[in-house]
Amino acid sequence: MAPEGGLDLSNAVALLTQAGWRAPVGAQAGEWLWVQAIVDGLCDLSSRDPLTGLANRRQFETALAREIDRVARVGEPSLLIVADIDHFKAINDTHGHVAGDAVIRAVGECLQECVRPMDLVARVGGEEFAIILPNCPPAFGQTVAERIRHRVAQRQIHLLDGALTSVTVSIGGAFAPQWVRSSVIIWTERADQQLYRAKAEGRNRTCLDTPPLTVVSAEEKSFLFSSLAQSDTLSASEILEEHPKTTS
Ligand code: GH3
Ligand code: MG
Ligand code: MG
Repeated sequence: MAPEGGLDLSNAVALLTQAGWRAPVGAQAGEWLWVQAIVDGLCDLSSRDPLTGLANRRQFETALAREIDRVARVGEPSLLIVADIDHFKAINDTHGHVAGDAVIRAVGECLQECVRPMDLVARVGGEEFAIILPNCPPAFGQTVAERIRHRVAQRQIHLLDGALTSVTVSIGGAFAPQWVRSSVIIWTERADQQLYRAKAEGRNRTCLDTPPLTVVSAEEKSFLFSSLAQSDTLSASEILEEHPKTTS
């Protein structure tokens, strides 16, 4: 039954209702089902950007930290893309802030259309976006980034005053070092450096860093994993003696 007394959810309900939330069909106000739906709604609200509906910076940083863990464990290639609208201030200055918002929304849609469902697209700043692409081999990174750049440039954006406009984006990208634990700050910083390079080289372009070469031989990989199984019975030095590191 209802958690009677002391629990005032009226502000939460007002906030959620304003954002389009509706109570689950059949749930009575005060029931646990209703309370759970409010908690879920608040979690969703606090992880989304209200203008675009994309993930916000909070959700992005959580997802990036999770991806860093996954790459260190599984060793799959993973790409972080950052994109910034070129000369966006001129859109605001020429057409007004509401038109600027429409442009941000349209660019967000373009990014979402260009990636797989497993990729996370976030709005991380005013006219700045980030995309986490798990399991993205280096050979595909440039293709995806260029697809995004072209899609945005070709998009005709309808503004409220009837005008049509288009914008371009500059894109930076950085691959996570495989088998090595990075950090949210370091990985983001590497992608940002590439974005600055794209801006400095003239905008409307893509710059990806070369994937950090963390060469792990098949022998080392099997050593990494077998050591987990063997660590109960062998000391680290014993394992090293059995699997001396070789260079190729
Ligand atoms: P660059 O090509 O170097 O990226 O130039 P820019 O004009 O895009 O970048 P700048 O940083 O000079 O301007 C970004 C502008 O974005 C300034 C700010 O007022 C505007 N902005 C930030 N957030 C929003 C928003 O939510 N809506 C609108 N309409 N404008 C925003
Ligand atoms: Mg910017
Ligand atoms: Mg910009």
